[in-house]
Amino acid sequence: MRAADLLSPRPEGLYCPPGDFFIDPVRPVPSALITHGHSDHARAGHGAVLATAETLDIMALRYGQEFAGSTQAMRLGETISLNDVKVTFQPAGHVLGSAQICVEHRGMRIVASGDYKRQPDATCAPFIPIPCDVFITEATFGLPVFRHPHPSDEIARLLKSAEQFPDRTHLVGAYALGKAQRVISLLRQAGYERTIYIHGALAKLCDYYQSRGVELGDLQPATVETGDRQDFAGEIVIGPPAAFSDRWARRFPDPVACFASGWMRIRQRARQRGVELPLIISDHSDWDELTETITETGAGEVWVTHGREEALVRWCELDGIAAKPLHLVGYEDEGD
Ligand SMILES: [Zn+2]
Repeated sequence: MRAADLLSPRPEGLYCPPGDFFIDPVRPVPSALITHGHSDHARAGHGAVLATAETLDIMALRYGQEFAGSTQAMRLGETISLNDVKVTFQPAGHVLGSAQICVEHRGMRIVASGDYKRQPDATCAPFIPIPCDVFITEATFGLPVFRHPHPSDEIARLLKSAEQFPDRTHLVGAYALGKAQRVISLLRQAGYERTIYIHGALAKLCDYYQSRGVELGDLQPATVETGDRQDFAGEIVIGPPAAFSDRWARRFPDPVACFASGWMRIRQRARQRGVELPLIISDHSDWDELTETITETGAGEVWVTHGREEALVRWCELDGIAAKPLHLVGYEDEGD
């Protein structure tokens, strides 16, 4: 069987003709397999949805219980047959519930990684490399310039700044699904035991992570209306990046604007956003993680999607691995 007959791009997303399902479709389809809960991958309005229990819960939290006609939860490591195509979900290490999807039919095995990273992350199960014929990789940070530092070093810089400026509030921008909980978890691992204040947009997902056993410690709402604004002097407040241009952000005493993102490697981006303390913390693989993972899968062919496709395609070709960009549209990760 040819790989292109097992999975091929269509306007709705990656389609599996023998299995009659899509992976992470961007338009409503009768049957969808979903890798993780970020909004560009997990959309409402499909007929049947197959995903991990956590991804289904996250979709219900974001879109309401009626987000799909029907749902089925997949356990990590479990294999089921869909019209004779064997489907297995394995952890992707990206956010809580994230999975790679392995499809196998007539001796051909393709792994769609979804978004993934290899750095340790206490808030989700670690990525497992799966030997395969074709590996479909993301390429969000698919340029050699992207090398993420160790996240604990970035958190140490945040804590040092908080100590140095006890009269200022450290406002940390972090995406609501995954990044916010990871930053909180990293602060706890670094021994930070004080209350962490969160924007209301993060509350439901932080509660959900805690209900699944992810320790986030004492979290309180960062509402200025009820208390004295000086209460937040010296504190760490976490909010979605979009809230930083709001009046909400200007209510804190002399805030230090921080932003936790892989894009903070680019100084110009930090400057454009008015970020005083950029924190390079990413839920995506950097260049080394991407290339090492491709090698580990042993795939003879690599399909590259959403991100900087060209450099990674070229790296594969130089390494003797057939590669091509997939040119899927509609993926702009909300959780960089
Ligand atoms: Zn994602």
